[in-house]
Amino acid sequence: MAPPAPGNLIDLMALIDAHGRPLRDLRISITDRCNFRCRYCMPKEIFNREYEFLQRDLLLSFEEIGRLTRIFHDLGVDKVRITGGEPLLRRGVETLIADLAEVGLADLTLTTNGSLLERKADALAAAGLSRVTVSLDSLDPDVFAAMNDVDFPVTDVLDGIDASVAAGLTPLKINMVVKRGVNADGVLAMAEKFRGTGNIVRFIEFMDVGSTNGWRLDDVVPATEVLKSIAARYPLEPVDPNYAGEVASRWRYRDGQGEIGVISSVSQPFCGDCTRARLSAEGVLYTCLFAAGGIDFRAPMRSGAGDDELRTMITDLWSQRSDKYSELRSGVTVNLPKVEMSYIGG
Ligand code: SAM
Ligand code: SF4
Ligand code: SF4
Repeated sequence: MAPPAPGNLIDLMALIDAHGRPLRDLRISITDRCNFRCRYCMPKEIFNREYEFLQRDLLLSFEEIGRLTRIFHDLGVDKVRITGGEPLLRRGVETLIADLAEVGLADLTLTTNGSLLERKADALAAAGLSRVTVSLDSLDPDVFAAMNDVDFPVTDVLDGIDASVAAGLTPLKINMVVKRGVNADGVLAMAEKFRGTGNIVRFIEFMDVGSTNGWRLDDVVPATEVLKSIAARYPLEPVDPNYAGEVASRWRYRDGQGEIGVISSVSQPFCGDCTRARLSAEGVLYTCLFAAGGIDFRAPMRSGAGDDELRTMITDLWSQRSDKYSELRSGVTVNLPKVEMSYIGG
């Protein structure tokens, strides 16, 4: 038998899970704290003064994050997203970005609520961040303030978006979680605001992450409904994914004024292509957003584990992975214990 061509050899060696999905993306949460209390993520009643956030010494250090990222990169990860909690609250985040920018990733991005972006955009760009995703649920000042539940002004986030554009962190992605009866009537205004700017709004279905956000299927606005309401005013056509496993389905305006995305994890799950792992701020690795548990990397790292040992822990975990939560979602799964979104990152 002829030996495999070099490209095929790499394929043969690729790390795949129990459903044949490779490990390509890593989301790294760098803090479980946030200055917002979005009701769909960190409701005030739970995330209050009594809530115990992680103490500083329990967070992975930047050195530990850099070390793990390099090991993940060796195993095939070429896209890394920094998230949280609110990642820009972590002091010195630019230093971490500068280190990760040297790993040789194809894409290094960060998701933020935008509250500190006006101040930080230049430093993040200078450190080597490729792009930024800003969460923005409404352009209406009252609706926005009610959704973040700390009265944070929408104008400050818009200033952060402008600063990111000026710093070249483009194209920006703007994430809008659409919740029925709360902000759904602002979908068209959001599309209009960013049409023709080169930045891409992504409309996200409200998900049953965690166990505290009071999720109900009735509050989910299916992506088809969002698309219909935009297309009625601005005709749309589908666009091929940029790469296998892309979370958002892409649509472009027929008049050439750019594109939007919809993330339909409830109405049309996409587990079959899911290539994402998630590292919590304290170093626990999860293979699904809806997992109840994960594998701790902090203890082994702090007790002297070598890179080979850490690599084996990752390959063992990934090769056994069989997560397909969104495809199996039911009235029963919704009530299962799950890790909180603010802890694991979006
Ligand atoms: N604090 C940052 C932010 O809000 O962009 C980063 C972390 S946040 C957990 C990441 C993303 O998850 C945000 O875009 C947020 O809107 C989204 N998210 C949080 N809870 C959600 C839920 N229940 N359903 C859908 N998306 C959610
Ligand atoms: Fe904070 Fe982001 Fe969660 Fe809102 S979605 S509470 S900004 S972590
Ligand atoms: Fe991936 Fe889990 Fe989401 Fe499915 S439910 S797409 S496996 S994170």
